[in-house]
Amino acid sequence: MLYKELRQEMIDAALKLKEYQLISLCGGNVSVRLPDKTILMTPSGMEYDDMEPEDICHLSSDGSLLEGKWRPSSDKDAILYVFDNMPEVNAVIHTHQPYATAVGLVTDYFPPCIVTQIDALKGGVHVAPFTVSSDKGMGVLTVEYARGSLAVILKNHGVMALGPSLKICLYSAVYLEEAAKTYMAARAVGQVDELPKEMVKKEARDLATWVRYHQEK
Ligand SMILES: [Zn+2]
Repeated sequence: MLYKELRQEMIDAALKLKEYQLISLCGGNVSVRLPDKTILMTPSGMEYDDMEPEDICHLSSDGSLLEGKWRPSSDKDAILYVFDNMPEVNAVIHTHQPYATAVGLVTDYFPPCIVTQIDALKGGVHVAPFTVSSDKGMGVLTVEYARGSLAVILKNHGVMALGPSLKICLYSAVYLEEAAKTYMAARAVGQVDELPKEMVKKEARDLATWVRYHQEK
C-alpha cells in the first residue's frame, strides 16, 4: 500500500474534525491530491474512529479507483471538480460544521472580523447558493465562490475547506468554525462591524508564516 503515512494523517485530520464537533458520525470527507495528480479520498459512509490507512481510496485524476476496497466519498464528483479547476488546491475537507453553516443560513457573506479567521481563511467567506448534496454542483459552486478565501459555506449544507496542504486545509475548517461561533454569539446581542480592508490586509499573514506559527513536537 502506498502513502501509508499520509493516509494516517487524513484519518487523524478527520478525527480532529470530530473532536472539534465539525462533523458527526461518518459525515464529511477528507481528500488530498498527490504530486502525481492522483487523489486519496476517505470512503463513503464510514466512521473515522474505525478507519485504517488501507480503507482510504486511491483514485486516478478522473476518479477511477486505483487502490482500495470501499466506495469513495459520495461527494467525489464535486471534489474532483475542485481539484481540476483549482491547481493551487491540494487538499479539500468537507464538513457539516454547525456554526459556519448557521452563518450561511442568515447571510450570503461572512465578513472578516476575527483575526484567526483572517489568518486562516485570508479574509471573508462567501456563501454559495443551495445545491443538492453529493452533486458535482457543490464543486462548481466552491470554485465560483472561493474568491481568494480558503473556504466556501454551502447554503443549507456545510463547508468546503481548501488548502495547498492538508494541514492548512484543516486549519481553514477549524478556525472558520471558531470564528463563526464567535460571530453568531456577537450577532445575537448586537451589530458586528466589518474590519476595514486595510486592517484585514495588515492582519492577513502569508501561508508560510501561518504554518510556522503552529509548532509541532
Ligand atoms: Zn455534505
